[in-house]
Amino acid sequence: MIDKESESHCIFCRILAGEAPATFLHQDGLCSVFMDIRPVNPGHLLIIPNEHKPYLRDVEPEILSVMMRLARRFTAALRASGLQCEGVNLFLADGEAAGQEVFHCHLHVFPRYRNDGFGLRFGPEYVVRARAELEAAAARIGAAVMEMERGDGSGSSAIE
Ligand code: AMP
Ligand code: ZN
Repeated sequence: MIDKESESHCIFCRILAGEAPATFLHQDGLCSVFMDIRPVNPGHLLIIPNEHKPYLRDVEPEILSVMMRLARRFTAALRASGLQCEGVNLFLADGEAAGQEVFHCHLHVFPRYRNDGFGLRFGPEYVVRARAELEAAAARIGAAVMEMERGDGSGSSAIE
């Protein structure tokens, strides 16, 4: 069975190794930026860590901050590029159920304009919920954060 998370089957690692073609916009020691081969709209680009990391949790906070700085830069560039761009979406699919197809963590940055045909579809449960329900979900998330902080042994409350 093919391990979808493995580096050896990763198209983005093949691109970084020069074994598959790509149109690069940026590369430094930590991150790379290249054009998505199947753009939602013209100008759609991908920001990736150079190291093979399947999920968001695998990417070091310092690298994530570089990725977000690049997203900020390229968002501004898209707006100034002359490509049709009335707004910009950042999108990160973390996990198959969230739409992840390439298991090398990546941040999509793509231009949006009115009636461009792209959209997120909401389910029938998309309604304003009772406060108690929100609080119950928040309590579970808060407990998970506490558990994670205990687990890393540092007692740190830093957002990492
Ligand atoms: P995701 O569904 O978030 O995992 O997105 C994967 C993205 O990678 C899709 O938007 C694909 O079009 C893009 N993609 C897949 N293969 C390539 C490739 N060889 N070069 C550039 N982009 C690619
Ligand atoms: Zn990879």
